Amino acid sequence: MNRIFDHSEIERLRRLLEESQHIILTCHVRPDGDAIGSTLGLMHLLRQSGKEVNVVIPDQAPKSLSFLPGFNSLCVFSRHEDYCKRLIDDSDLIICCDFNKLSRQDRLGPVIGASESKKILIDHHLAPDDFCDLTFSYPEMSSTCELVFRLIAALGLYVDMSLSSATCLLTGIITDTRNFEVNCNNPEIYEVLMKLLEKGCDKIKIVKLALNTHTLTSVRLRAYAMSEKMEIFEKHHVSVLTLNKEELTRFGYERGDTEGLVNEPLTIRGMIASFFLREDDDCIKISARSIDSYPVSKVCEDLYGGGGHLQAAGGEYHGSLEDCRRILVEALGDYDKYLPGNVEKI
Ligand code: 5GP
Ligand code: MN
Repeated sequence: MNRIFDHSEIERLRRLLEESQHIILTCHVRPDGDAIGSTLGLMHLLRQSGKEVNVVIPDQAPKSLSFLPGFNSLCVFSRHEDYCKRLIDDSDLIICCDFNKLSRQDRLGPVIGASESKKILIDHHLAPDDFCDLTFSYPEMSSTCELVFRLIAALGLYVDMSLSSATCLLTGIITDTRNFEVNCNNPEIYEVLMKLLEKGCDKIKIVKLALNTHTLTSVRLRAYAMSEKMEIFEKHHVSVLTLNKEELTRFGYERGDTEGLVNEPLTIRGMIASFFLREDDDCIKISARSIDSYPVSKVCEDLYGGGGHLQAAGGEYHGSLEDCRRILVEALGDYDKYLPGNVEKI
């Protein structure tokens, strides 16, 4: 595997880890498999060296990840704010995983920002803010979990990696690549996969539980969305899915139920970008995916102040679902210039 880190960076990381006793691991709001996998994966590894390690997350993690070892020890800031604040106060090191700016942590962000603990960022999103003492930002990585694996290997700690740690890391790689469907053309990712399988990971089980297990109502909600709520903008090669509060309630929506839905329209021949707008309690959540070089991260940033990756991005809109949709639909023409020249008719 090619070396991607400077020797000096790895030594600084080693020193920061050695000098700390009370470590907090944290991630972005609405955490996904990569956010939970990277924090729990590191938690298992660091606990082995006798340190006190806790994972503090902004809000609840999806049930689909409850099979992960350590899931029940996650400290949820939105539920146990005082307890989480105390853990952060008592820490000497905070490791931020899978996000590039504190605003991605909602109300937990200012608490992390104000902490005097040393901070390390481990992330694969573009253009991270400069809020940490040591920053590992590698946007070319498939996932933060892949990056964490490489850091562990560079520290010489692969031999110490437990099956629990490996399972968490492989889960993040599997969810961020959708089981090696996207961001998976670098041959080295298969070397990482092999090394994790050698630890005894059950990839079949991880794929089934993390990606391919839904409740009956969630399958019905997805079918309804695809059949009744998908608008196609043929000229722009874009689809827009919307689900409002009433529809979500009707189908007994629970967090995580629409995970992956935004990918479905991209299976249509000639479709280049897919947007999914969902009316949550606190905002309209925007989720976007694309193929080729259509920059959904730019669309989300321009229209909603969001961001993410070129082909997988998101944002939040504070206003009505109708306004959120209108802003998008009216702007679609501005992004036609990013459509590939040889795009097929829908
Ligand atoms: P998802 O659609 O799975 O929620 O998010 C896809 C990608 O977009 C993830 O890499 C995530 O980090 C990023 N993303 C999602 N929501 C937001 C947001 O509100 N702001 C920013 N900056 N990025 C987001
Ligand atoms: Mn990620």
